[in-house]
Amino acid sequence: MFDKNTPDLADPALLVPGHLNLYSCPMESGTERTPLRDFSLEELVAYFTSLGEKPFRARQVFQWMWQKGATEFFQMTNISRSLIQRLETIATLDRTEVVFISQSPASETRKLLLRLQDGKTVETVLIPEESRVTVCLSSQVGCGLDCDFCATGKMGLLRNLTAGEITDQLRQVMAISSRPVTNIVFMGMGEPFHNYSAVLKAADMMHDELAYGTGARRITISTSGLVPQIKQFAEENRRYKLAVSLNATVDEQRNVLMPINKKWNISALMDACKYYTEKTHNMLTLEYVLMAGINDTLQDARRLVQIARPVFCKVNVIPYNDINGTYRRPADEKIEAFLQELSKGNFPLTVRWSRGGDIDAACGQLATQTKKMQPGFNPIET
Ligand code: SF4
Repeated sequence: MFDKNTPDLADPALLVPGHLNLYSCPMESGTERTPLRDFSLEELVAYFTSLGEKPFRARQVFQWMWQKGATEFFQMTNISRSLIQRLETIATLDRTEVVFISQSPASETRKLLLRLQDGKTVETVLIPEESRVTVCLSSQVGCGLDCDFCATGKMGLLRNLTAGEITDQLRQVMAISSRPVTNIVFMGMGEPFHNYSAVLKAADMMHDELAYGTGARRITISTSGLVPQIKQFAEENRRYKLAVSLNATVDEQRNVLMPINKKWNISALMDACKYYTEKTHNMLTLEYVLMAGINDTLQDARRLVQIARPVFCKVNVIPYNDINGTYRRPADEKIEAFLQELSKGNFPLTVRWSRGGDIDAACGQLATQTKKMQPGFNPIET
């Protein structure tokens, strides 16, 4: 094992209570009701077929759950009364509940705190900009990877989210957004590739025309560097975009910032990145969170050029959001100098001037508030 905090995905403690997979669901024979939001469209069709219903009924219910935002079966007006009554006894439309929404005073960014069925909470961020509206989704409650600069990592991993819980974050955000959501990023709480199947299933659900029809190239999955899953993602030739958080240019430094590096070091990670781009012909994004006095020197920039140049990638620099911890955002002139040096690499270069840092909404910094919001905490509605 590479790190004591790395979750063992075979651990039964990580299974989600109350959420059953299709083939173990008790349907009408048992007492537990089946949560329909956890089903992909294909699984929902199989479920309805097992009930003796036609596939088109499953498609109607799928569309009601997601695109039309139904939260109760009786709202599904084109479904027969008898089927509604039957579904009410054997199935659920379990969903997240909004605990509160905070609005950034400096931007349009809004952060939703959502309560899950078991009382745990996750956060989802809505980031409207001039030309796009982006949603940042969580994939786990907490995270087991313990990146040193990340508040979520300090929580440890509580559990994986189901595909339904992930997709429901988008439903909740769409309900409060005045503009259509154009982009989805898996950069909230959790390491998406540690919850690979649920994340990919959720992405497929969001991409489905009967749900939200979000274009595959408008969905980005961001990983801290899980090499086997990067290779799996390449081999499955998934069309969603891939981002990799690099954040350091030497192993000694990355071992401290991101302990996952002790398992798969920079060289192994970059080999996996090259494998991905060569296999899929898709460009990937290398994310680099810039932290004062840690990884912001000109030498760091030069090493980053050497690392990125052989890969079909763009580099996205993210000046760190201060959260009163050990790490700090570099001064503007330091950031400018770093970017200037990096621009010599001749690869596409972007800077994410973070929106939402003022509401703790930056990636990996969501948990500071969330930790206080587990059951028993009484938040103030904003
Ligand atoms: S940065 Fe991402 S992978 Fe690292 S601890 Fe935070 S949530 Fe987990």
